[in-house]
Amino acid sequence: MIISGNDLSKSYNQRKVLDHVSIGCDAGEICGLLGANGAGKTTLFKILLGLVTPDTGTVTVRSASNKKIGGIIEGPALYEYLNAYENLKIFGSIQGVDVSKKALQQCLESVGLPQDRLDPVRNFSLGMKQRLGIAIALLNNPACLVLDEPFSGLDPLGVAALRNLVVDLAAQHQLAIILSSHIIEELSKICHTLYVIKEGRMVNQGPAQELITNNTTTYTICADNIENSLALKAYETRFKGSCAHIHITADRVPELIFQLHEEGIYISSCVPELNMEKLFETTAP
Ligand code: ADP
Repeated sequence: MIISGNDLSKSYNQRKVLDHVSIGCDAGEICGLLGANGAGKTTLFKILLGLVTPDTGTVTVRSASNKKIGGIIEGPALYEYLNAYENLKIFGSIQGVDVSKKALQQCLESVGLPQDRLDPVRNFSLGMKQRLGIAIALLNNPACLVLDEPFSGLDPLGVAALRNLVVDLAAQHQLAIILSSHIIEELSKICHTLYVIKEGRMVNQGPAQELITNNTTTYTICADNIENSLALKAYETRFKGSCAHIHITADRVPELIFQLHEEGIYISSCVPELNMEKLFETTAP
C-alpha cells in the first residue's frame, strides 16, 4: 500500500466520530469512501493529510517524494481574484516547488485546464475550480491524492469529465487516489476498491464490483411479453410496463436470462439495483 491508515479513532467533545477505522490505497488504485453526511469522511481525510491528530492509530505513506500526499478538503481553496496560472504560482512558492512557467503550464495541462484563460478564477465553473484544486494538490508530485466530495455541486457532464481525469491520473501517474462521496454511482464507475463508513465505523469494504454484486438483490429486466414468463413465477416479481423488478441474487441471473431466452422472451436491458440498506448494514464489531 502507498497509503495506509490503521486503527484510526477521533472524538470531539467526548463524541466518537471515528471508531478504529482502517483504510489503504495502492499505487494506481482508486479507492472510494462512501458514507452519508456526518459519517466521518472529512475527519478521516483530515487525519490522512496530517491536518488532524487521531486519538488512536497511525498513518503511513510510503513514498520517496518530498510531498507524500496532496488533497482537497471541503472544496478547493483558491485566490478568486487571481487567474489559474497565478494561483498555481502562489501555491507552488508556498510549497517551495519549481514554479517555472513551463512546469506550471504542464501542471495546468495535466488536469485539462486551458493555458490561455487569463481571467480571475471567480469566473470559472465549479468543475474548472476542482481541476485547478487538483493541479495545486499535484504540485511537487505526491504519491497519493485525497479528494473530499470532489463531485459535489457538479452537473452530470462535469461529474463525467472529473471522473475521466481521476482515472487518467491514477493510470498515467500511478497515483493512489482516495475520494469520498455520499452517492454510490459517483464512486462505483471508477473505483477499484470501496470503503463504506457509517457513524464513524467502517461497515463494509472490498473490490467495488464484488461489493456491488454481493449487495444487489433486485434486477430490473425489460423485454416484450415479460409478464407472460413462466420462469419468473419462481421469483418475487413486480411488473411495470414491459419491465420486471425481480428479487434475485446475482449468481442466479445468468440461468434466468437463459430460461427467458428459451421461452422466446428477448431481453432489451438488465439492470442491477443495489440494496443500500444491505450495503450499509452494520455488522457486529
Ligand atoms: P462527513 O465528511 O462524512 O460529512 P465529518 O467528518 O465532517 O463527516 O463529521 C463527522 C462528525 O464529526 C459530524 O457529526 C461532525 O459534526 C463532527 N465534527 C467534525 N469536525 C468537528 C470538530 N472540529 N468539532 C466538533 N465536531 C466535529
